[in-house]
Amino acid sequence: PLLEAPILEAKNITRRFGGVVAVSDVSLTVGKGRIVGLIGPNGSGKSTMVNLVTGELKPDLGEFRFNGEVITGEPSYKRARAGMARSFQMLRLFHSLSVEENLLLAHHIRMKSSLIDTVTLRRRAIEEEQAVRARARELLAWFDLEKFAPHPVSALSIGQQRMVELARGMMSEPTLFVLDEPAAGLSPPNVDRLITLIRRMRDEFGMSILLVEHVMRVVRDLCDEVVVLDSGVKIAEGLPEAVVKDPVVVEAYIGS
Ligand code: ADP
Ligand code: MG
Repeated sequence: PLLEAPILEAKNITRRFGGVVAVSDVSLTVGKGRIVGLIGPNGSGKSTMVNLVTGELKPDLGEFRFNGEVITGEPSYKRARAGMARSFQMLRLFHSLSVEENLLLAHHIRMKSSLIDTVTLRRRAIEEEQAVRARARELLAWFDLEKFAPHPVSALSIGQQRMVELARGMMSEPTLFVLDEPAAGLSPPNVDRLITLIRRMRDEFGMSILLVEHVMRVVRDLCDEVVVLDSGVKIAEGLPEAVVKDPVVVEAYIGS
């Protein structure tokens, strides 16, 4: 039998912005149920790579496969439907809406096509609506956010907002979650909580994760393997313990 395809394969991805080669011939693979870290100094191309993976940007060269299927030209909403979720380095929540509304909205944005005017379809839409509400409640409980459900996001701490962002991403039942610096701005106890939660997201939902992160503790504790970028180029990959000691990697961080 054929080996099961990895959930994500990036092959020889290149993306330029004018004269800047933000990502240069980068390949990486995320196997099913794996947590793969993407690290590198500021400006090394991590966020660009995330945007290429999720389809917000198109590569100049290279190919992406998701569950073995080529998705290189697919827009981000199609990738989301196929099971990709992401979080943003700068959170993108609706601050004046409640926590619960943010979760419900995440779903509705992707479901406009259910507004069709027949009784059967309307009934189906109502059932779907109830299922979505049930899922939102389950996720709020899972992330220990129930007590914040009716409150506006603006009333929450950054740490709590990051949890809302993760819960929102889970609404679409993703199989791959791409996280762009989820620990940014978190206090040490909140970093601990985040590590535990991301590990549980993998273990309990069978999620695969591509994790961009600056906080080395998060990388060391969570990642099965790590890819290191410097000036858009992949300079190292392997086990986190080995990669963080690699002289080439140390040099790249010191030089930045
Ligand atoms: P990182 O997330 O690792 O800090 P980025 O992917 O944000 O790095 O940036 C990589 C390089 O690409 C930087 O030199 C940055 O200035 C450049 N870059 C990123 N996005 C754009 C853009 N939209 N337009 C022009 N240059 C960009
Ligand atoms: Mg970035």
